[in-house]
Amino acid sequence: MACSDERFDIVVVGAGPVGLSFAASLAQSELKVAVVEQQSLERLADPAFDGREIALTHASIRILREIGAWDAIPASDKSPIQGARVLNGSSAFALCFDPPSGSGEPLGVLVPNCRIRDALFKIVRSHDHARLLCGHSVVDATNSHKGAVMTLSDGRQLTARLLVAADSRLSATRDLLGIGANINRLGNSMLICRVRHERVHHQIAVEWFDHHQTVAMLPLMEGVSSLLLTLRSNEADKLLAFDDDLFLTELTNRCQGRLGNMTLTSNRHSYPLVTTWAHQFWAPSAALIGDAAIGMHPVTAHGFNIGLSGQKQLAHRILTACRDRRDIADPDMLYRYESWLRLSAAPLYYATNLLVRLYSGEHPAARLARHAGLRFGQYLPFVRHGISTMLRR
Ligand SMILES: Cc1cc2nc3c(=O)[nH]c(=O)nc-3n(C[C@H](O)[C@H](O)[C@H](O)COP(=O)(O)OP(=O)(O)OC[C@H]3O[C@@H](n4cnc5c(N)ncnc54)[C@H](O)[C@@H]3O)c2cc1C
Repeated sequence: MACSDERFDIVVVGAGPVGLSFAASLAQSELKVAVVEQQSLERLADPAFDGREIALTHASIRILREIGAWDAIPASDKSPIQGARVLNGSSAFALCFDPPSGSGEPLGVLVPNCRIRDALFKIVRSHDHARLLCGHSVVDATNSHKGAVMTLSDGRQLTARLLVAADSRLSATRDLLGIGANINRLGNSMLICRVRHERVHHQIAVEWFDHHQTVAMLPLMEGVSSLLLTLRSNEADKLLAFDDDLFLTELTNRCQGRLGNMTLTSNRHSYPLVTTWAHQFWAPSAALIGDAAIGMHPVTAHGFNIGLSGQKQLAHRILTACRDRRDIADPDMLYRYESWLRLSAAPLYYATNLLVRLYSGEHPAARLARHAGLRFGQYLPFVRHGISTMLRR
């Protein structure tokens, strides 16, 4: 192993919401953890609104609560989803998802991504055994069964027993580890902004698969929604360049007045859509978590939910190994983490990709199939119940 400037038990690359959750999950241990992040400390400490409103499942809320992040998020930033409606084209028919009657619980809760990052950052910063190395990226990494060595952009070398890549769906660390991935660039982008609107949303989320566009309306505080428009990337770029008035006119036309008159209440954000499935989720002395392992299409709102449960599994296995004085990078343990993540995420990942193909196809057969699919779902209560249960898991 090369000589290094600093030694850690675990180095996490990427202080996104999953990398930070993982570092926070390890807080109860004595493990020496470093989190390397390319953004500056100032930007991490005060994360800017990035347009994403993350729909959290009940399982995710439980995990965030366990690591102390849930209560650190202001109540005013938590918007319950009391139901969801799925629409197809110009049909007035809606497939409805509602919480089971009498449960008193919403389907999920929307929280701005920046508020989740903020809460997690504060936990990690206050943790004695964690070091945040901000403003640097990892430019080289080598790994073997003995450990991993990383070179940072400032030339420093770090050694770790375990390297954990959490540096997004286009993870450079995954490439450095020689792990391939199925990366699918969809040619579409998701354009997002917050709008204040005339009509009441009743905390109901709407996903509308219209012709040549998908519109999602996510209910936030009273009279305010997050509007998500999925379009061909070149069209999204055009809309992004419009001035506010023209942009609002275009939005109102595309929403066909469903929300009544609207005004913009945030800046606009655009995300080119890319899905990723890494060929392996571990390598000797290394593991992948979050989007670096599985980058979901956002339409089913599950990327972070999966990343959060995945990091919990890995952290739990590491904490158990630590308690039993076993190796925290034991290949069998990493293999079991990979198997768990594969099994738990694959059905949703492939079902989401299928849904995207079905609902973005403009062929008359695809339109007919999705129309039939919605009716089928509505009249088979167990299908709706199953999906609602999955959303509330
Ligand atoms: C529009 C949109 C809406 C979404 N809505 C939902 C939703 O409702 N529910 C849900 O569950 N999920 C949702 N997701 C998915 C969710 O945002 C992601 O799954 C989640 O952000 C993944 O977190 P992460 O920490 O793995 O990666 P990221 O959030 O991508 O963070 C990666 C971090 O690594 C850093 N980094 C990158 N490269 C390097 C490097 N070389 N060195 C050091 N640092 C590096 C980056 O600066 C960043 O801070 C949505 C995604 C999008 C795009």
